[in-house]
Amino acid sequence: MLSATIREDFPILSQRMNGKPLTYLDSAATSQKPQRVIDALVRYYREYNANVHRGIYKIAEQATQAYEASRVKVAAFINAPRPEELIFTRSTTEAINLVAYAWGRANVRAGDEIILTEMEHHSNLVPWQLLAAERQARLRFVPFDEQGMLQLHEFDRLLTDRTRLVALTHQSNVLGTINPIREIAAKAHAAGAKVLVDGAQSAPHMSVDVQALGADFFAFSAHKMCGPTGAGALWARYDILDAMPPFQGGGEMIMLVHLDKTTYKDPPYKFEAGTPNIADCIVWGEAVDYLKAIGMQAIRDHEQRLTVYAMRRLGEIPGLRLFGPESPMRRGGALSFELDVAHPHDVAQVLDQDGIAVRAGHHCAQPLHRALGVSATTRASLYLYNTEADIDTLVAGLYTVRNLFSPKTATAPKP
Ligand code: PMP
Repeated sequence: MLSATIREDFPILSQRMNGKPLTYLDSAATSQKPQRVIDALVRYYREYNANVHRGIYKIAEQATQAYEASRVKVAAFINAPRPEELIFTRSTTEAINLVAYAWGRANVRAGDEIILTEMEHHSNLVPWQLLAAERQARLRFVPFDEQGMLQLHEFDRLLTDRTRLVALTHQSNVLGTINPIREIAAKAHAAGAKVLVDGAQSAPHMSVDVQALGADFFAFSAHKMCGPTGAGALWARYDILDAMPPFQGGGEMIMLVHLDKTTYKDPPYKFEAGTPNIADCIVWGEAVDYLKAIGMQAIRDHEQRLTVYAMRRLGEIPGLRLFGPESPMRRGGALSFELDVAHPHDVAQVLDQDGIAVRAGHHCAQPLHRALGVSATTRASLYLYNTEADIDTLVAGLYTVRNLFSPKTATAPKP
């Protein structure tokens, strides 16, 4: 069980929104930050702000040491074998683009294929479209069924000796589906393909072990796991990184520069050109410490219990259709739904009046929504600080929406 005082760690949660207590149900978009993470950010700027890997004075060494210590923590968080395998980026998006640009341009040729799924976030789709167009490669897509589960027999059919890469999300930001990465990676490797896992929605919510998953690349963002915005990471196996050409060129990624040629540092520095996002990368380590102290299994258990409760309560609302797997074992706490009487934007706007923050739209997954046959959904997404009371507030708010848009069929939540 998570401590009942966890909410108190997050100062924003004691604020009011539109005169009502804030009910924050949009953690799939970004998570809230605990006070110790906010304090760590202020401490960096007040006490040891300096550029890393350059100065030989005390605070520069302190900043470098904290930056590298954070790399060790973030790498250990996903059980990376070596911290040098973890490249700090701006976000999951930048991490995936790094692979598409640096690995993709060196390894994908005309006629090659990349397998994605129909549930990908645009971040794990558009970079591959750009690469495929440039390389005359082909993208193939694994569909999902009515339960929001990948159709693995289709994956088996699509996987051939032309497949260079299988890139897929670990946990869907819309359906909540947790994909069977280990099984998919084993098959992909047997076919000679590499595997990229979009971990933006899994790393914050469950214990991730990149070695056990069998991934070659794993991309994730600090801001969805109680850390600051502007920091993310790419993990990849060292041998792959070592063989990859750089992503961006500039300061700090070089060994020797001549006017006509340059040699590069070893990973991870080869991929961290210019001044990195020092403050936010350091503070990400604080967020990792915070989550680890609570325990990722405890967080997963809490969210699973809350998801079961939310699915039951949402299921009581007439005209509400929830997407994604029914089994809480197969999903996380992203709960996307449609309500027959109102457009998702109207739903979100009415909920906002009650202090409830949810997201409405396509959640950066237009092809997924097309496959569902809807243009948009409303999404409530859970995290460690949410409670059953948040779900009750949401359900009451949804009855308000129903009754506003369909007064003739007015109903009330069950007591
Ligand atoms: N993939 C998934 C599954 C996501 O949910 C998100 C964020 N919504 C991203 C990628 C992109 O993450 P970021 O915006 O932090 O780059």
